[in-house]
Amino acid sequence: MTDRKAELAANLAAVEERIGAACAAAGRKREELTLIVVTKTYPASDVRFLSELGVRHVAENRDQDAAPKAADCSDLPLDWHFVGQLQTNKVRSVVGYADVVQSVDRVKLVTALSKEAVRAGREIGCLLQVALDAGVGGRGDRGGVAPEGIEELAASVAGAPGLRLGGLMTVAPLTGAYAGRQQAAFERLMDLSTALRVAHPAANMVSAGMSADLEQAVAAGATHVRVGTAVLGVRRGLG
Ligand SMILES: *Cc1c(COP(=O)(O)O)cnc(C)c1O
Repeated sequence: MTDRKAELAANLAAVEERIGAACAAAGRKREELTLIVVTKTYPASDVRFLSELGVRHVAENRDQDAAPKAADCSDLPLDWHFVGQLQTNKVRSVVGYADVVQSVDRVKLVTALSKEAVRAGREIGCLLQVALDAGVGGRGDRGGVAPEGIEELAASVAGAPGLRLGGLMTVAPLTGAYAGRQQAAFERLMDLSTALRVAHPAANMVSAGMSADLEQAVAAGATHVRVGTAVLGVRRGLG
């Protein structure tokens, strides 16, 4: 094994241990949780090692980096999640490799995703990114629909050809009422998920929790955690 692969293996084992302990503490089964490894800023060679180590889900947040990486790794049994703010002019490219777009936050984006999914003959899973710190009608600093906008946006995804409404995603807010209160934020997302599932019972994915707060996400009931730094190391520059 190369040094890097051994390092990734050790980091993955440590993250697995954290997830296992968090599940045990919450009385949940490990199978209820899906680990998504966020590979942004790291090379395709790392994605390949991760796949060899058993990772099945990876996430990226910038199309410019993700598109060539996904092409390099197209032989691997991986699901690609897109988790970054998405401009409509990048949608055609993203639909070419993404299985799930977790950052759906406006109807205009739904329209573009649907059109390109149909053109490509693909079905794209969509999570609505919720900005828990956004006011009515507003959007979060890092994207996301305000809680009051979920119902309308969900209806638009549910009615869009080529798209499948998967559930909800959030990033714990750094400011506002939930700053420093990740578990409360994730519990609020769970309540919003429960409400969403009344009209959309299959939309049961809840993507919450990153390297620093995966335990709180597991405790709150998340189904998917998105872990970058704890597996790959601290990113240089913007990620
Ligand atoms: C980068 C990123 C993550 C992973 O963050 P880490 O702190 O590195 O684990 C998760 N979700 C989103 C949306 C991200 O952009």
